Amino acid sequence: MRFTICKTLFAKFFSIITLWAMVSSTASAGFVTLHETEINDIFSQANFGSDTIEVRFNATQEVTDDDLVIIDSESEITDSSSGLLSLSNALTSDLSIAMFYLDDILFCGGSSPSAVGCAARFTSSINGVFDNNYDSFTFFDSTFVSGSLGAHTIAHELAHVFGLTHVPNDTDTTARDNLLNPVVASDSVTTLTTDQINTIFDTSINALIQTDSSNGQLFIEVSPIAILASVTAVPEPTSIWLLSIGMLFMVGKFRRL
Ligand SMILES: [Zn+2]
Repeated sequence: MRFTICKTLFAKFFSIITLWAMVSSTASAGFVTLHETEINDIFSQANFGSDTIEVRFNATQEVTDDDLVIIDSESEITDSSSGLLSLSNALTSDLSIAMFYLDDILFCGGSSPSAVGCAARFTSSINGVFDNNYDSFTFFDSTFVSGSLGAHTIAHELAHVFGLTHVPNDTDTTARDNLLNPVVASDSVTTLTTDQINTIFDTSINALIQTDSSNGQLFIEVSPIAILASVTAVPEPTSIWLLSIGMLFMVGKFRRL
């Protein structure tokens, strides 16, 4: 087995992300935000025609694991006994995609201090062809995906699990015109082309789409999992002050866009 890994970066607020990383060590827990309606809309957009894909959410689970609250190494992702891979295998069925919500992502296939979402897609080593994505999973910065770009970020990572790769890395704001742009920002859109949708439906690439026997509706199954810390530290006054500055600054930035 080998795996590929893809991340979503947050384009415009690197200074704030850095500030957030400074204070997030006191938050020490993930929390789940589903964005169910928005994500379903993305996988039912017009280019899907009548073959819309419903995203069905299993009940949220919680896991207490201090090491995995902040992902900062490859082993925390891929270790088969202690990483997210082991949790994914233990907590979800083959056809269900684990979505981990945690405190911070500092590693996603490399050092990634500004990553807000990440997907690990496990592939067969046979001819390098994707033929099995049952072990694949996603993970997210809880705080980021609780915001206005949360649905976009989650849908982007799910799309990686379905076998889609990035469109060219356009940091030009006028070119962020596809869900698979590696950078997410307030002007990003959630478009998927018909070619991308054909890839999602290619069973040699994506084996995760199921059909509801009662009505023929296509669906995929996801399993939200919050990673909790055994002890949640209470932020010190200095940290609260820093966090307040960061959030106000972020609001100001959004308004200017
Ligand atoms: Zn990506």
